[in-house]
Parts: sequence; C-alpha cells; structure tokens
Amino acid sequence: MSEFKAYKTPVEISLVVPAYNEEAVLPEFLDRAKAVLNATGLSWEIIFADDGSHDATADIIRTQHRRDPRIGLISLSRNFGKEIAMTAGLDHSSGKAVIVIDADLQDPPELIPDMVALWGKGYDMVSARRTIREGETAFKRTTAHLFYRVINALVDRPIPADVGDFRLMSRRAVDALLRTRERHRFMKGLFAWIGFRQTEILYARSPRAAGQTKWNYWRLWNLSIEGITSFSIGPLQFASYLGFLIAALAAMYGIFITLRTILDGNPVPGYPSLLVIVLFLGGVQLLTLGIIGEYVGRIFNETKGRPLYLIADSLLKSQPQDKSDTV
Ligand code: UDP
Ligand code: MG
Repeated sequence: MSEFKAYKTPVEISLVVPAYNEEAVLPEFLDRAKAVLNATGLSWEIIFADDGSHDATADIIRTQHRRDPRIGLISLSRNFGKEIAMTAGLDHSSGKAVIVIDADLQDPPELIPDMVALWGKGYDMVSARRTIREGETAFKRTTAHLFYRVINALVDRPIPADVGDFRLMSRRAVDALLRTRERHRFMKGLFAWIGFRQTEILYARSPRAAGQTKWNYWRLWNLSIEGITSFSIGPLQFASYLGFLIAALAAMYGIFITLRTILDGNPVPGYPSLLVIVLFLGGVQLLTLGIIGEYVGRIFNETKGRPLYLIADSLLKSQPQDKSDTV
C-alpha cells in the first residue's frame, strides 16, 4: 500500500461517488458538491467510480475532468455493483478524510461540513442516519425494519438501522476497511466491523433528484442474505437446532405410537400422517441443504481469489494503480 501512496499528492478531503447510469443527476450533483467543498476551504478531490454505465455518465465526468483535474474517474470494465464500485473508488482515494456519497443527491452534500467538523474532533467515522425516508413505501420501511431486527439478532457487532453508506472516514479507517478484500462485501457490516471512534449525524433523506433506483426487491432480498451470511453462521446453527427439534419430536411420536399399539392393538391407520411426515422431513432437509449451499457457494466464490474489479479506464490527477487484488 505504501508505494501506491507515494504517487499521490495528498488532499484533505476525497469524495468517493459510485455512479451507475447517473447522467440525469450528475450536473446538479457536481454543482452542489463543488460548492460545498469549496466552502470548506480544504483541498479536495472527487473520485467517481463509474460502475459500467451505459449512458453518458463517463462522458460527463471526462468533460468535467478536463476543466478541473480534481474531478477524477475510475471506469470499471462492467457493472460490478455499488459495494464493489465504492471499494474501487476508496482504493484510489488519497484524502486524509474520505466521504462516500451517492450520486443521486439522496445524500445531501450540504452535510459534509458537519461531518468534517466531527472528524476534526477526532472521530474516525461519521455516518449519516436518516430520520425520515421520503418517497419510500410503508412496505419498504417495514421490510427494512425487519431485516435489521433479524441481522442484529445474529451478528456480534450491531449494524445500525437507517444508516446507509453516506459517511466520512478518516484515513486510518479507510485503510482498515480496504484491508478486507472479501468478494461478498456487505459494506454496512464492514463499516461496523472495523471499529474505531464512530459517531452519527441526523438528516432527512429526500427522494432521488432524477433517474431511477437500481434496487428492486429481489436485489434487496439478496442484499439481506449477503448481510446475514457475511457476518453470521447463525443460519447453520439454526439448521442443526431445527434438526435436533424434529428428531426429538419424532422420538416422542415414536414412543406415543408404540404405547398406543401396545394398549389399543394395531389397526394400521396412518397413511396420511406418514405422507405428511415424509414430505415435511424432505422439505426440512432441502431447506437445510440450501442454507449450507449458501455458505458453500460463498466459500467457492472467495477461494477463486479473482480480483474484486477490473478497470477499463481511469482519469486521475496521479498515476492510476491496479489495486483490485491487493491484500
Ligand atoms: N450504484 C452503482 N452500481 C450499481 C447500482 C447503484 O454504482 O450497480 C450507485 C448509484 O449510481 C448511486 C448509488 O449507487 O450513486 C445508490 O444507488 P441507488 O440510488 O440506485 O440506490 P438507493 O438510493 O435506491 O438505495
Ligand atoms: Mg438512491
């Protein structure tokens, strides 16, 4: 890592922005972000991680880079997902403090001065907690709430609810975070896992300024599974307890049948109950196999040891480095 940093002129603040098809909001985002950064009086850079966009996202950033080289771009070779795009951006940031922010203006850049002030007080991580979620359905709110209940019952370091990826991190927090090179990156969990001095500020999250959300319920469901399997082996333990419980019930039922046969004779009933039990056990076995499979699949993905991402193109003030598979 150290030889990598030698290429960089350190700046005070890096803004890391994952962007996937964000042409509609980028101009407004840049206006607001630059105004806020300039007002802080600190030196800054903005690093966009273009996550394989199909629209003019990269072109807009390239044009901006020509006008102001403090605006940098890392273009990934395809869509890798926000978590990895963010990691690519962090890998190439040089700031003494780094702020991760969405391009769609749901994370207001105007909070940056407050975050920077808390960083000045010695905090390593300042995350933004949303108080109200405008433009989100009651269903989404309920499912999100449930997700945090489940995951926090399973993991040892609590993952705060209503806190997204929008946050400031000190250099040592970023470096710590970047030492985790797992492919299955559940960032909310990793942020909590690294520790250091963490604090929160509150804000009202507004709806996206323009463009479309990329998160449908299927992706959110998968993200929840990712979160749970990355940070807990609870489901595996659940599988063994379930097996134990069913075996105990089966033993009790066996004793009951034996006693009844001794006392009442054997009229050979029980075809329906037999079928129910066979089907039920078949279902339980498939379920537990599925749970094991989720973990085996992740072990498989991690052991391949592929780079986290590939860079197609980059425009940075300093020399770009391929950090995708650094450990
Ligand atoms: N994003 C990304 N890669 C993806 C999906 C999203 O880099 O595959 C970026 C997107 O451009 C935005 C941020 O991640 O800057 C958050 O995405 P979005 O607004 O769609 O998510 P939501 O705010 O609905 O959670
Ligand atoms: Mg959004």
